[in-house]
Amino acid sequence: MSATEVASQLRDFTQRLIEQTGGIIDWPADQPRGTALVPEDIASSLGQRGESFPVALSGLDAGLSVDLGGEFLDAAARTLATFVPAHGVFALPSLPVKKSSFQSVVDQAFGWQNARCSVLQGVVTPIVYHTWWFHVTLRSEDIWETLAEVTVNCDGRTCCSLDGLLDAMDLQPVSGVARAPDTTLEIAASHVQQRALLAARPFLNRMEQRLERDRQRLRQYYRALSREAAAPNRRVKTAPCPEQLAARQRAVTLELQRKLAELEERYAFDGVVRPAALAEFRVPGLAIDVRIQRKAATRTFRLFWNGIQKRLEPLRCSRCGQGAYNLWFTNDEVEPICIPCHDA
Ligand SMILES: [Zn+2]
Repeated sequence: MSATEVASQLRDFTQRLIEQTGGIIDWPADQPRGTALVPEDIASSLGQRGESFPVALSGLDAGLSVDLGGEFLDAAARTLATFVPAHGVFALPSLPVKKSSFQSVVDQAFGWQNARCSVLQGVVTPIVYHTWWFHVTLRSEDIWETLAEVTVNCDGRTCCSLDGLLDAMDLQPVSGVARAPDTTLEIAASHVQQRALLAARPFLNRMEQRLERDRQRLRQYYRALSREAAAPNRRVKTAPCPEQLAARQRAVTLELQRKLAELEERYAFDGVVRPAALAEFRVPGLAIDVRIQRKAATRTFRLFWNGIQKRLEPLRCSRCGQGAYNLWFTNDEVEPICIPCHDA
């Protein structure tokens, strides 16, 4: 590679670096030097004091010297790593891009029971999801366990299904997570807990039946004991006096109560929902801001349109935390409430 080729590549690289970090650069190809104007944090990352500075391949007293021997490469690497996004951007050819089409997409998906909804704006954005895997254990007289998976829209704070979404996407590993795990852990865990209790219903019923069976056996056994205690002693052929009888009966009743309590304890439930793994996915989509008007009060909500699955995600119910498409709103706070919560 000749010296002029290197110079020209360095110049192109510098131009792209400045432009990708939100700056502008004026450096005509036939000029030895140019001028750059960048945001303050970029300037300082490039080792410059002011937002505007001269740029040249060499021979500068002050400004950015674009050469392979000096500090330029370090400054460029630092700036790239900090300010230029390293993950992919997806194109979405069939997005409803007009505001009027946002409105119809929203109106088709949602039922607003006692409020009016108007779309304010929609922006193309990656939607961030956390998929959690949990190990769920229910311990009673026996053990039930499962591995459960749940996906949470980090910003919408609702649980949703990713279905075959991950197969439809070209997944690229990126380092770190965009949302902290604790922003979604609780939502995911409580969802998994409800689902697990539902899935474990047959097991719970079986435990209940066993408990009832063991209770019956205990009662029968102690009824027999109690009858025996009341019967006259055949060997000595004398009936017990009423005090003795009462004392024996009391002892038998106390013993039965103790055994029943032990039984309840043995069948008591202990449930553990333990997070096993977390994966974060960024899916191309739209964030649509809507204004909900309920009587004199208004409130803005952000809805998410998943561009791969081509659907709007539900809004989070302020009472139960479940996602819902059919919503009531409270008068003053304009809190969304799902139908089951509203009916309750
Ligand atoms: Zn609800």
